[in-house]
Amino acid sequence: MNKEDYVINGVSLENIRNRFEVIVIRLMKQFIPEFPDFDKCEVCIEDVYALSLSRIPSVYMKDSTMVFEDDEMINENIEEIVKYALFQVSSNPKHK
Ligand SMILES: [Zn+2]
Repeated sequence: MNKEDYVINGVSLENIRNRFEVIVIRLMKQFIPEFPDFDKCEVCIEDVYALSLSRIPSVYMKDSTMVFEDDEMINENIEEIVKYALFQVSSNPKHK
């Protein structure tokens, strides 16, 4: 994707997207050691990432003025989402 692909009517949505991606990736790195059944293959890692992003409430996405780094409630919710995704994918891996 190019930067321009994120722009609608002059408004760039790239930062919002990137912000959640970075948070999810950071939390995945943090929590993967807590899930010994998680096999860390490419399919499973991508699954956890996609599942986590899909479960982040859209209300967080809408308010681009939110400062996530300082919002403990939002960070804790995203932590729970990433842990849930790790649990789901560990229990039901799609890899062959
Ligand atoms: Zn796997």
